Amino acid sequence: MTQKIFNSILLTVIVTNIVTVILVDVLNDDNITHIGIFVIAVLIGIVSALRMSRKITRPLVEVNPDNPKINYSEINPLINKIRIQKGKICRQSNEVKSGREQLSLITENMSEGIVIADPKTNILSCNTGALKLFGAEDVRTGDSIYLLNNSENFRHCIQNAMGGRNSTCILKTSGGDREIIASPSNTTDTVNGIVVFILDVTERQQLETMRREFTSNVSHELKTPLTTIYGISDMLVNGIVRPEDVGQFGQNIRSEAERLIILINDIVSLSKLDENSVPRDDTGTDLYNIAEEVIDRLRHSADERNIKLSLTGEHIELTGNRTVLDEIIYNLCDNAIKYNKDSGHVDIKISHIPTKILITVSDDGMGIPPEHINRIFERFYRVDKSHSRQIKGTGLGLSIVKHGVMYHNGNIRVESTVGKGSVFIVEFPIEKR
Ligand code: ADP
Repeated sequence: MTQKIFNSILLTVIVTNIVTVILVDVLNDDNITHIGIFVIAVLIGIVSALRMSRKITRPLVEVNPDNPKINYSEINPLINKIRIQKGKICRQSNEVKSGREQLSLITENMSEGIVIADPKTNILSCNTGALKLFGAEDVRTGDSIYLLNNSENFRHCIQNAMGGRNSTCILKTSGGDREIIASPSNTTDTVNGIVVFILDVTERQQLETMRREFTSNVSHELKTPLTTIYGISDMLVNGIVRPEDVGQFGQNIRSEAERLIILINDIVSLSKLDENSVPRDDTGTDLYNIAEEVIDRLRHSADERNIKLSLTGEHIELTGNRTVLDEIIYNLCDNAIKYNKDSGHVDIKISHIPTKILITVSDDGMGIPPEHINRIFERFYRVDKSHSRQIKGTGLGLSIVKHGVMYHNGNIRVESTVGKGSVFIVEFPIEKR
């Protein structure tokens, strides 16, 4: 614009000068004087054109679209449009900014990881969750996604997604197990990038392993007595057993069948606790009364080995599930007898402190080596396999105790010395009334 104004002013000035020169020519005949006057006239023309054009355009150059004060009324509509446009851009940019801030606030507070990568596998966005889950705190936007994890599984998963296919895999990292879900963002045939979700599945994988181990243990434990029962009955059917041994063989079948029943009952109890399908009683249960009943049921096996059972403490009520509370006390007392020496002692105490109800079962039996203490609550775990062959048990008793205690919001701990005995202490929170 400045150029155009300048050109028109310059043209006007030059034409005026030429006319002036022609006039001078008519009045004066000297050539040098002609040229001199012409040059001066042109220079004056250029300078004044320059100054005038600057003067005309200055208000336009210096105009503030937010507060336009300009004398050219023709330009005002344009200024108005610019101002409206600027307002729109400002609003849109604020919206984008607040949207981005909101998105970042949401993703930054997620425990799951989210990574967005371009088709060259460079990171466009990556939340803190992803960095933590991969243990790769130094990785930045623009870095290769493989800096987060370079395992073959991860590469394969990302390459599949880059090829336009949804892909998942489980990675074992030093921090635990991670599930990767990589999803492509496609338009027709082109992959514009991928979104990768990272989940911490350590607990899920552990549960899955436990479930698999449990199933295989159960199958094994069921198979052993069933094989014995089948073998003995086969011999009986084929008449291989001498008549005087039939009674003993019959006894063996009974004891294996008994073992199966105990095992199945234990499995059923555990599954109920696992599934949270145990109902809560409407009324409280007196723990001292339960302990008395348990002692009655175990008296016979204790007497067989001259083990003394004693119960002390007070009548305290706890609301929960009576059958589960019975199983807790029964299993602890049964173990205290089973893993005791002949003529040993088992003391049961029901008591309370201001915040807790306590059940304490102590024995002066064989005790538990410290390296096994943390494992005795695992399913099918038995400390001494050679001993355990003589002492009957499923290895599920303490698992049932632990889950039963957890069902009642309590906790259990053990103090034990090898050769001296063990104390199992169950603590339940006192219910506020
Ligand atoms: P089990 O059916 O073998 O008794 P439990 O789950 O009840 O299974 O116990 C797991 C293991 O813990 C037992 O095999 C035993 O080795 C150990 N244990 C439990 N209670 C006692 C105890 N009072 N004294 C010594 N060892 C014990």
